Amino acid sequence: MGAVTRPSTWPAVVLRGLGPRQAAPARLWIMIMIGTCTAVFFTAALLGDGGLDPLQLGCGIVLALFCLTVLALRPERAASLCVAGPLLGVAGVVVLDLGTADAGVTGQIFFTMPVLYAAVHLRVPGSVLVTAAAIGGDAIVVGRLLPLEEALTDLAFTGGMLILMGSVLTRAMVTQQRLVEKLRRQASVDPLTGLVTRRVLDDAVSAISSATSDTGTALVLIDVDKFKTINDTYGHAVGDDALVHIAAVLSARCRPQDVLARMGGDELAVLMTGCSYETALSRARDFVSTIHDQPLPLADGRRLALSISAGAAHAHQHTGSVRDLYISADTALYAAKRAGRGRVGELSGAERQALHVD
Ligand code: GH3
Ligand code: MG
Repeated sequence: MGAVTRPSTWPAVVLRGLGPRQAAPARLWIMIMIGTCTAVFFTAALLGDGGLDPLQLGCGIVLALFCLTVLALRPERAASLCVAGPLLGVAGVVVLDLGTADAGVTGQIFFTMPVLYAAVHLRVPGSVLVTAAAIGGDAIVVGRLLPLEEALTDLAFTGGMLILMGSVLTRAMVTQQRLVEKLRRQASVDPLTGLVTRRVLDDAVSAISSATSDTGTALVLIDVDKFKTINDTYGHAVGDDALVHIAAVLSARCRPQDVLARMGGDELAVLMTGCSYETALSRARDFVSTIHDQPLPLADGRRLALSISAGAAHAHQHTGSVRDLYISADTALYAAKRAGRGRVGELSGAERQALHVD
C-alpha cells in the first residue's frame, strides 16, 4: 500500500537529524531527567543560605512546566522537546552552579546528565550538539567562578571527559542500532526467495483484520506439488532454484498491496486485502496456471515442469478470526491435494460454516 508522504520542511529535516532514535523511551527519559533537575532546583531554592532564591525557583517552575508539556504530548510529537530538554538541562546546570557559586566537582558533574541522555537517545548530530553545549556551559561556569588558569585546566579535564563519554556511548548506541536493524531484516525476509517471512504476514493479517474494507480480505495458501521428488531427482540446489523461480513468477502476478510470503518449506501465502472470495479464487487459479506455463530452465537447457496447489479463504471485516482464515485456507489447500494437485481447492458449504468464513 502506498504510504502518504508529506513534503518535509527544513525544521522537520533538521529535527529528524538531531532528534530521538526511538520516540517513546526518549520521551520517558527526558521526563525522568528534567524531573530530577526540577526537584534539585526546588530543593536548592528552598534550602539556600539566603532564604528563598527567586531565580532558582523560577528555573524549577520552567522545568516543571516543560515536564508537564512533554507528559501531555504523544511520543512522536515530543521529538523537538527531546532535543530542547538536554539543552535546557545544560542551561539549568549553568544557572544552578552560578547561583550556588559552585565550580567544583559537585557543580560540574551535572553536565554529564544531558550528555549521557543525548548519547543514548538522540541521533549522532543531536549528541554532538548537546556535548558541545555542555562544554560551553562548563566554560561559562568555570570562566565566571575560577581564576583563568584554574578555569582552563578544569575546562580541559571536564570537556575531555564529556567528549570521551559522549563519543564512546554514541558509538556503542550506533553499533547496537545497526545490529538490531540487521536482526529485524533477517527475521522479516526469507534469504532464499527474498519474500517476506510468516512473521510479516501474521502482522499484516492482524493489522487488516480490524481495517475497514467492503470486500473483505482473502488468504491464498500455496504448496509446491511433489517437491520432495524434485529434490530427490535433481538435487537440493535445483529444488532451491525452483522455489526462487516460483517466488519470482508469483511476485510478478501480485498487486503492490498484496503480501506474498514464504511460510516455510515449499509453502507460500498471498494475503489480498480488499478482495472478494470469487476474485481470490480466480487469482489463485491464475497462479496455478501461470506456474504450469512457466517451467524452470535448467543448466543443461532442459525445462523442469512445476506444479502448485492452492487453497483460498475469505473473511468479511470483523467476522471470523485470523486463525479461522488460516485453517480454512489450509483445509482448501488439502482439498486441492486430495483432488489430484495442480488446482485450487474449495471448501464445502458445511466446512465454511464451521470455520465462520465464506
Ligand atoms: P505434496 O505434493 O503433497 O506437497 O508433496 P511434497 O513432496 O511437496 O511434500 P511436502 O510439501 O511435504 O514437501 C516439502 C519438502 O520441501 C520437504 C523438504 O525436504 C523440502 N524443502 C523444505 N525447505 C526446502 C528448501 O529450502 N530447499 C529445498 N530444496 N527443499 C526444501
Ligand atoms: Mg509440497
